[in-house]
Amino acid sequence: MVRDFLSAPSADGKAKKVAFIGYDGCRADALINVLDTPDEIGGDNSTSLFSGIAEVLKGEDAGIYYAYAGGEKGKDNEQHTSTAPGWAALTTGVWGAENGITDNGMPKKIEHKTFMLEAAEGAFGGVEYSTTFAASWLARFNENYMDEIEYLREHSASPVAKTELAGADAETVTQYLDAIAGSTDISMRHKYVKNDAELHEYLLACVQEGGELERDIIFGIYEGTDHNGHGTGFGNDNYKYIKGFRDEDAMAFELLQAIYSRPSYEQEDWLIIITTDHGGRQTWHGNQTYEERSTWVVCNKGIDAKYFGSGYDGYTENV
Ligand SMILES: [Zn+2]
Repeated sequence: MVRDFLSAPSADGKAKKVAFIGYDGCRADALINVLDTPDEIGGDNSTSLFSGIAEVLKGEDAGIYYAYAGGEKGKDNEQHTSTAPGWAALTTGVWGAENGITDNGMPKKIEHKTFMLEAAEGAFGGVEYSTTFAASWLARFNENYMDEIEYLREHSASPVAKTELAGADAETVTQYLDAIAGSTDISMRHKYVKNDAELHEYLLACVQEGGELERDIIFGIYEGTDHNGHGTGFGNDNYKYIKGFRDEDAMAFELLQAIYSRPSYEQEDWLIIITTDHGGRQTWHGNQTYEERSTWVVCNKGIDAKYFGSGYDGYTENV
């Protein structure tokens, strides 16, 4: 959908922008905390004034969609309901059986690029968008997406010396990413941040019009839900899990306000997606239970039925 959005002719010459916001390990049932739900369903939406999700859903064409992680259960493309395969499927549009990441700790194949890299290369309508991929898990950079970092390094008139990224520490990774950013001819930036607060600060800077770090397309992953899920348990009966969700959702709200207040916002066409990579059960995830497989997508533009899964409902085995 991101690819089609960027490829389609621009309405009224508006500049296309994308905010792809991740809430790591956010179970579908957590959304009840911010949705306008009938009393008989329950949930507490009384304090959802500062919810990124609720904010996106105010849009006329906006929608919320049920989805699934973990590939197609029982088939060849079944994969772990883990972080690396979850985000790789979302950013490349194919399951790990194709992109190479079926579990944590695995490297992606450059044959299946992320939409951030493709957009930066001008794959959509010839426009070379400035993009970024920001995350606070070092594994994104020293395990999973080394292919794209190396690709950026190679695409430079005078490439910096190659550093072995596999297993490299934070300082080495950061220095290398900075060096590549300063030399590559492709306008994609990888950003390692220490935590959600630092991620948030960075993303706000990326949407500040005219700012030094401004990007057309941002993809960042907040970790509040996953972090607290592993700590005290996933699900609505865990206060800390809900707090982790509300904290990241409040940051997304603030990010949206920063986007809406851009001086050129009226001349821009934004695709805004908030989604997650997997759910969780008790204090873990990776297996194929409903609690781990159930995910969701919130989008400011209606998602056409042509993007829906077909022939498989996400839950039924061996359909
Ligand atoms: Zn995750």
